Amino acid sequence: MRIPMIAGNWKMNTTVAEAVALVKEMRPELDRIDNVDKVICPPFVSLAAVKELIKGSSIKLGAQNLYFEEKGAYTGEISPLMLAELCQLVIIGHSERRQYFNETVELVDKKVQAALQVGLKPILCIGETLKENESGKTEAVLTNQLSSTSSQAYSTGLTLAYEPIWAIGTGRAATGEQANQTIGFIRHHISKQHGQEIAQAVRILYGGSVTAENIAEFIKQPEVDGALVGGASLKASQFLSIVKQTSSIKRGK
Ligand code: PEP
Repeated sequence: MRIPMIAGNWKMNTTVAEAVALVKEMRPELDRIDNVDKVICPPFVSLAAVKELIKGSSIKLGAQNLYFEEKGAYTGEISPLMLAELCQLVIIGHSERRQYFNETVELVDKKVQAALQVGLKPILCIGETLKENESGKTEAVLTNQLSSTSSQAYSTGLTLAYEPIWAIGTGRAATGEQANQTIGFIRHHISKQHGQEIAQAVRILYGGSVTAENIAEFIKQPEVDGALVGGASLKASQFLSIVKQTSSIKRGK
């Protein structure tokens, strides 16, 4: 049984004061939901403050990126060890990082390895562009993005997030069936590469314009184990509703 996960990616939004206010608003209700892994990923500068606010609760904290080196002369970067003091998870390979910061499959894999070495659980993002989708290259793109991910990474608690780039921040979500079909392909591919046991255990989230209005469509799908939520995770009422609907749909399954 895969425990569903709803992770909020706040991206480059919220000052520390705003992050604190958002967490205070959500904490009591989020904490009460026990059959979903609830993860919030604020900007680096708010991690310490948010860590204090969620202490003793069931809410988990994630970062949005890291660098793979342990320490040293890498001005402006944040190391896995620094994050391990603050949070449990880290988003790696988000399409915005691949697109704007030229992150390659090799670099993303180094980051995954570095995170695992200090006990941080990666949420590894993969997904195709609209052009790749329309030219029938989705499966090849996803296969390539997963080419370096090891059996050990899967069995040490890596979560995957399938995020079609055309659906991120566009308001144009995939359909539940599309998400289910592509995530089914990803699981089948993992099964061929790493065996059925690993493929059945790995959590695969859908991401791309998920809201309180459409979350049910995704969560009802057998292959979809939760969602990585961008814009809607910045509104307490939306995020809470997404988590609550996930909880009741999964309870009913
Ligand atoms: C994301 O950033 O991972 C994301 C899915 O964004 P949005 O929900 O805003 O499309």
